[in-house]
Amino acid sequence: MSEDATPEPGTVYLVGSGPGDPELLTLKAKRLLEEADFVLHDKLPGPKIIELLPDDRRQDVGKRAHGNRTPQWEINERLVELSREGKRVVRLKGGDSFVFGRGGEEAAYLAEHGVPFEVVPAVTSAVAAPGVAGIPVTHRDHASSVSFVTGHEDPTKPESTVNWEALAETGGTIVVLMGVTRLPQYAQALIDGGLSPETPVALVERATWPGQQIATGTLETIVDVRDEVGIEPPAITVIGGVAGTRESVVDFLRNDYSQSGEGVSND
Ligand code: SAH
Repeated sequence: MSEDATPEPGTVYLVGSGPGDPELLTLKAKRLLEEADFVLHDKLPGPKIIELLPDDRRQDVGKRAHGNRTPQWEINERLVELSREGKRVVRLKGGDSFVFGRGGEEAAYLAEHGVPFEVVPAVTSAVAAPGVAGIPVTHRDHASSVSFVTGHEDPTKPESTVNWEALAETGGTIVVLMGVTRLPQYAQALIDGGLSPETPVALVERATWPGQQIATGTLETIVDVRDEVGIEPPAITVIGGVAGTRESVVDFLRNDYSQSGEGVSND
């Protein structure tokens, strides 16, 4: 599809919404949302973007009754079904669909079922959440590499696929997604792996949403900070020297979100 063509009937657009501020949608995402016949989304695009979607052309597949998640196979089948009805379908995900967004599974399923699709990349919260907090994920003096990691798994379980010890050795910046609940376990795993307990850490909750919160500490203090400030998902954890640079810029850092609840800075 060329840049300004209208979306094709029967095509599925795997669209990332960015972190939540509607102005951080790409122009392409915005146009596709306006022109789509149907949008399947979950909660992660955030309230401001979801309220832009017309109620009669959207379905929230994030949660069903009784707090259960819609199983992935059901979402996959729905995408195929809508495509076969000749609809122009947007599958909207928070951040970028291909960063911990299961976009790859949906793409594979669509390909298997002969459904044409397009991937529309977006601003991932893994970079945007640190960014709005004044934290660059790389910095010439602090980090020449960055790792994006899921914090969803229990690091003390042998089946954990994240090698925290290796991450501690690699250094650079570690950005943890889905990492609020298991923060105590992986903070400890990183200290056990050799990172200093003094390593700076920042938590950024609901980046660019109303009610954004930012809290800072160290590997040793961050669990208490999380509890004091009341950081809840969705939040990003940034670990490494870069998290410490926020302090030197924060007095001059302006963004449109922080008035709705800047968390305490605890050093
Ligand atoms: N595809 C998404 C990530 C999905 S995994 C992306 O690229 O951003 C879900 C996790 O994303 C959440 O647990 C949280 O860690 C992170 N996340 C997504 N949006 C966020 C936001 N606005 N603020 C903070 N964290 C966010």
